[in-house]
This record gives sequence, structure tokens and C-alpha cells, in this order.
Amino acid sequence: MQRLDALARRLAVGGSLLASCTLASIPCAVAQDSLFQESRPAMGTTVEILLYASSRVRAAELFEAAFEEIERVEATLSSYRPTSEISRLNALANGGRIVTDPEVFGLLARALDVSRRTDGAFDISVGALVRVWKRGRANGHLPPSAELEQAAAAVGWEHVVLDPATRSVHFLVPGLELDFGGIGKGYALDRAAALLRRAGVTAALLGAGRSSHYAIGAPPRTTGWPIVVPDPHDPERPLSNVHLRDGSLSTSGSGQQFFEYAGTRYSHIIDPRTGVPVTGMTQVTVTARSATDSDALATALFVAGPERAAGLLEHYDGVGALVVTAAGPDAAVVPIAWTGSPRPRDRGAQHLPLER
Ligand code: AMP
Ligand code: MG
Repeated sequence: MQRLDALARRLAVGGSLLASCTLASIPCAVAQDSLFQESRPAMGTTVEILLYASSRVRAAELFEAAFEEIERVEATLSSYRPTSEISRLNALANGGRIVTDPEVFGLLARALDVSRRTDGAFDISVGALVRVWKRGRANGHLPPSAELEQAAAAVGWEHVVLDPATRSVHFLVPGLELDFGGIGKGYALDRAAALLRRAGVTAALLGAGRSSHYAIGAPPRTTGWPIVVPDPHDPERPLSNVHLRDGSLSTSGSGQQFFEYAGTRYSHIIDPRTGVPVTGMTQVTVTARSATDSDALATALFVAGPERAAGLLEHYDGVGALVVTAAGPDAAVVPIAWTGSPRPRDRGAQHLPLER
């Protein structure tokens, strides 16, 4: 744990997402509260928490509780863990109705709602295709078409049936696998943030690598926690600056997770309509009131692309997006109700050429 009270100390949060900031932008002490920071590996990335607390001891208690909550959520949702509730559902729920706990049931209902509103661009049932493409990526070739067809037949959010009366889950097709990779980090941050709020924290920033951030309040005398959305084609340069307050920001990008085959760059995000990873997109950043929503919507808009994105966001209040298409002569940054600054000329999906 670090106490951040030296004037010259610079914070580097979330890789390059949160701009390094000094006391000029984040006051490090107000009244008796000081700013503390701790990071730990979790959810396949580094989770970082900044919070104001009255003492080092109090901050340590808060960090412990928040990281424990993140670990609990990961242990519940991860399909990499054979003991998780999701692994249990994936193993059993195509054989009949399986009763699950209220938390998983609620999150599954929320994920299916995102699928409905995004026309299936976000699909919590995409696990079988993710698995097949991961194997292809590891072997350096495209998956055989028979495998792809089989996996595609096991994907479809409409095949996940929830029964609120019995709190049970039933998959209508064999081999269906839930995959919370596109929503779980955001959800874990929301849960940890809720815990910190209940513990009396009024200013904190939680981040899961470059994937998601959630802000409680703002540093004293500021309008929000400063976050930089990097230009994916030139990560040293900021694409936009956001001041986050009681809200979230999530980014889906192909910058780190992709594989190239025969000149095509395949991302780690699958278009459920085609069964093929998205190509032609570089980065989507979404701001929302909850990190669960922004995480799921960033994944959805990565699939939907700039043409469909504006229409899909009409179903959501208070959500903004910044969509960056793939490098090349047609590369474009498309702001949709984006409130970050410098605020690109907004209103609808205008294509702004990337500055070089
Ligand atoms: P994110 O980085 O939040 O966009 O999440 C990407 C992860 O979500 C992938 O690694 C998969 O585990 C999962 N995923 C891939 N495609 C989709 C999709 N169309 N809908 C929902 N989850 C997906
Ligand atoms: Mg996501």
C-alpha cells in the first residue's frame, strides 16, 4: 500500500489509462483524509484502487475488504475455475433446470437484457466459440470449419432460459457455455465499489487494467477522477480525457489480444452472428453509471461497429461511447454522446479523421 502525499509523486494507474497526475490535479490530502493506493493481480490483470481514508490502518482494512470482494466475484464467475458457479452451470444446465444463487441469477438476467437490447452483439453464451478460437490462436491457424459449426450451434442467448420462480437456469442446446469475460471485470468493480461506499468511502477510483474503471465521488475540489483514453494507434497520445465521478469507463480493444492469419487481424471478441472474431475495429470506450453496463456495452459496440453503435445506444440513458476503427486509410474515431474532452463534435456518428 502506498500513501500518496508527496507533492512530486505521480500516479500511474491502469497502465496508461489514468494520466499520471500530480497534486495539481488530484489533491493528496484534505481535512484528515489522505490518498492511498494499492494494486494486486486479479481477474487476469492488475486491479488498482485509489481511495481517501483517515489513516493507513483504515485504508489497509478497506483495501483488504475490496480485494476480497473482487476475489469472491472472480471465484464465482470465472469459467477458468472448475469450482466456480459458472463452471457448475456450464456442466449441468443443458441437462435440465439448475437452481443458482441470487447473485448469479441477477447478473445473468442483466447480461441477457444487454443481449436483447444490443441485438445479440453482446452474447453471454459465446463460450463455445471463444474456446474454439482460442485453440486456433494457440495453434496459429483458423479453427476447422466442422469445429466452428459445432461451436456456433451451441451459442445463442435465446437458448438460455431463466425461471425467476425457481431461480433456475436451463440451456436449450447441448454444449452451451456461459462466458462472463465481457462483463465480469466491470461487475466485480461495481461490487467492490458498493462495499467501499457502505464502509463510508466518499472518494475512490477502482481500475481493472485497461478494461474498466469505476469512480466513487471525486478527489476533493475536483470535478472527477482524471482518466485518459489512449489513442490505440499511438498509445503515447491521449485520444480523450474524461473526468469520472460516480460512474464508469470501460474499454474493449484488440491492441493486446489478437492473432494474425493470412494478413487479417482477429480480435478476441466474437461476432455471434458470424461465429468469427471481429476484424476492422481497434478500440471502443464506453462511459456509463455502472461498470457492469460499460463493460458489457464496450464489448457489444466492438461487435456492432460504428454504423450500428449509435442506434443501439438509443436504448440507454447516460451512456457515451468513443469508437475507433482499425488502422488504415479509413481509420476513424466516432464519438456517440461522448462527454469526454476535448469533446469531439458530437451528435450522432460523425467520422473524425485520426490526427497523425
Ligand atoms: P472485453 O475485453 O470486455 O470486451 O471482453 C472480451 C471477452 O468477452 C472475450 O475474451 C470473451 O471471453 C468474451 N466475449 C467474446 N465475444 C463476446 C461477445 N460477442 N459477447 C460477450 N462476450 C464476448
Ligand atoms: Mg466488456
